[in-house]
Amino acid sequence: MSIQSVVKKIEKNYAHQPEFIQAVQEVAMTIEEAYENNPKFAELKVFERLCEPDRIISFRVNWENDQGKVEINRGWRVQFSNAIGPYKGGLRFHPTVNESVLKFLGFEQIFKNALTGLPMGGGKGGSDFDPKGKSDAEIRRFCYAFMRELHKNIGKDMDVPAGDIGVGSREVNYMFAMYKNLTRKHEGVLTGKGVGFGGSLIRNEATGYGLVYFLDNMLKANDDTLEGKTVLVSGAGNVAQHAAEKALHLGGKVITFSDSQGTLHDDEGFTQEKIDWVKAQKDARKPLSDYVEKFGGEWLPDTKPWQFAADIALPCATQNEVCEQEAKQLVESGVKYVVEGANMPLDAQAIDIVRSHGITYAPGKAANAGGVAVSGLEMSQNSVRQYKSFSELDEKLQGIMKNIHDDLLSAAKEYGKTKDVVDYMTGANVAGFLKVANALVAYGIL
Ligand code: GLU
Repeated sequence: MSIQSVVKKIEKNYAHQPEFIQAVQEVAMTIEEAYENNPKFAELKVFERLCEPDRIISFRVNWENDQGKVEINRGWRVQFSNAIGPYKGGLRFHPTVNESVLKFLGFEQIFKNALTGLPMGGGKGGSDFDPKGKSDAEIRRFCYAFMRELHKNIGKDMDVPAGDIGVGSREVNYMFAMYKNLTRKHEGVLTGKGVGFGGSLIRNEATGYGLVYFLDNMLKANDDTLEGKTVLVSGAGNVAQHAAEKALHLGGKVITFSDSQGTLHDDEGFTQEKIDWVKAQKDARKPLSDYVEKFGGEWLPDTKPWQFAADIALPCATQNEVCEQEAKQLVESGVKYVVEGANMPLDAQAIDIVRSHGITYAPGKAANAGGVAVSGLEMSQNSVRQYKSFSELDEKLQGIMKNIHDDLLSAAKEYGKTKDVVDYMTGANVAGFLKVANALVAYGIL
């Protein structure tokens, strides 16, 4: 079956899952040539098999709110592919979570995890539970209730969840506690745990730091550096905070953060003190807009950060945050590099616009793979019951991001479609796909 006929079938069978279709289309349009180079792929229907999750587990979560009332949410785990290792990927708690969103995230995760070079398959899960405005006790009760169901379907060699939007170390720790309680096993079944009971140093920083290490490699490939570059960051969560921090370490000037309420702009650039303030403010679930009173700058309600003149944009908020209009703003702002910290923050039109205007674009499945890469390192530390130091892990993270970059570069040289700039998008999809597809061919038809 040709790639295009697989896409048509997915579009027809899953017409009600737009995010999943978008993720499949994006991979399909770039891997066609590599796919046709190996007749085994079509013969064994490798792409079609990769588009159908191994299984989707869906369950009800009952929990009690602070008023003693019963609340009900839906929980899911999409076990997409364990071709090259145990299912691996985060859990997202957000009201927008549904099967389409989790299938898109799980599908992306297959290729992202393969790109890290570590033995991890792809999965994703979560719930439509909204953590916003919930007390700590409510979060705890929800996490316990969620794990009471999920624990039956995960395990250190089977499926290893972690955090994502709405799930940080607090939530992972609550879920880990319930898993231990139910199974009596202290094992590496979740990553992103607290340091001191199995968690890895640098896991918290890894996605944001890894993103900037990837960017640094892109710049180096163009004989350039981050020194003196102006950077737009969207989002203000874990990825955004640590991307801004690492960009600052490498000499960049970050001038924006944003959240669902608006954009924070500081033309002087965010110093370490200011970034620490953003971290503390977000941890305390207080508004970003309080910044202006303390440090100056401006708060722009209901606005995204792309209107300011800059060299680099790091979208670190969520999927489809950059559509046609925002992509045009990026072009007008003079941005030369768009590197995705979030998963699929640019929609298909936005990708077309930035690529056709000579902007170098790197997709999240490569650029934000540092988080799951350090999760992979946490799994191996748990298996041998040893810890590695911060500097050892930071060095490993830098090495992994460089390898991902270089793998993309060579796949882009062979299959890339853009002439004036490196086609990291094709590079990521081809390099990730080939690693998984070759495993499926080796397995036969199971
Ligand atoms: N949620 C993160 C991602 O999108 C991390 C997943 C993990 O560490 O397993 O890659």
